Amino acid sequence: MAVIGSPELLIVMSAHATADEVDHVVERLAEAGCGAHVTPGREATVIGAIGERELLASLPLEGYPGVEHVLPILKPYKLVSRELSPDPTVIETRGRRIGDGYFGFIAGPCTVEYREQTLETARAVNAEGVTMLRGGAFKPRTSPYTFQGLGEEALEILQEAREETGLPLVTELMDPRHVEAVLDAADVIQIGARNMSNFSLLAEVGRADKPILLKRGLSATVEELLMAAEYVVKEGNSRVILCERGIKTFETAMRFTLDIGAIPVLKRETHLPVIVDPSHAAGQRELVLPLARAAVAAGADGIIVEVHPRPEEALCDGPQQIPTAEFAEFAGEIRALASLMGRTIG
Ligand code: PEP
Ligand code: MN
Repeated sequence: MAVIGSPELLIVMSAHATADEVDHVVERLAEAGCGAHVTPGREATVIGAIGERELLASLPLEGYPGVEHVLPILKPYKLVSRELSPDPTVIETRGRRIGDGYFGFIAGPCTVEYREQTLETARAVNAEGVTMLRGGAFKPRTSPYTFQGLGEEALEILQEAREETGLPLVTELMDPRHVEAVLDAADVIQIGARNMSNFSLLAEVGRADKPILLKRGLSATVEELLMAAEYVVKEGNSRVILCERGIKTFETAMRFTLDIGAIPVLKRETHLPVIVDPSHAAGQRELVLPLARAAVAAGADGIIVEVHPRPEEALCDGPQQIPTAEFAEFAGEIRALASLMGRTIG
């Protein structure tokens, strides 16, 4: 019988509870037609009890051996909440880590334009110790008349860049028809700001076996971002990296307003890693470093920035891309600040 409902109750096991006692609780829940989401923590194992509230309330959960206490999960997001998984999640791909002290440093072109532009950028950022390479193959453009990305050809170029540098690839998926191609090529699947509320796409990547980089929608609240992540995790994929990338406000001096406060709020609310995209927030290259510094200082688990060998020739987002010639200086500043914050570049 399929279990209906979301994790509604938090069953906190005592620090000395045995594996048998945890299994016993899970079995009792199953007998009652309820599900269980077990998170072994550093301090104690936590079980999220899944099912109708009334049904769960009728079970004598507090009386089972090894159970310390039972609490309702009051927030609308459950699986991504820190209540359910008090320890921070570390996401690893090809030996690079993000979260819990590991700082993800993601850099690369806005868009894969041609082979040399991408390889040149990949070499420059790799030389500065970044941990992943970004690059758009399918681009969400405001105007349908502008360059929309090279598509599958870009995925080939990115794979060549990975072969040469060893850097894991982050690229955006926009259309469910490209799932297979993007999943095949990429190491981390980006869901862009404009698709944060595309719930069927979120569920689709929730069934994928690759980490997801989920960007905050242009006008989405922190809670809506967490609910979008919940859509992914609910399908079974718990490897989600959240990304603050600036929101729309009345301010027009920058492309978007980077919501620095969202970083500590997200870190408090969820166990998932939180990174920042200062490039799209700033829209101007000279603002990228100060915003990146602010992000690191506010506790971000990483940054994702745009870099181009010749930004003045870029087909997309030229004004905000850092020239490869200036990237060493930028990276040096980030490394120093990350280390000051006690982070290890993952
Ligand atoms: C991007 O990172 O390539 C991008 C388009 O960003 P966003 O979805 O945040 O606008
Ligand atoms: Mn861009």
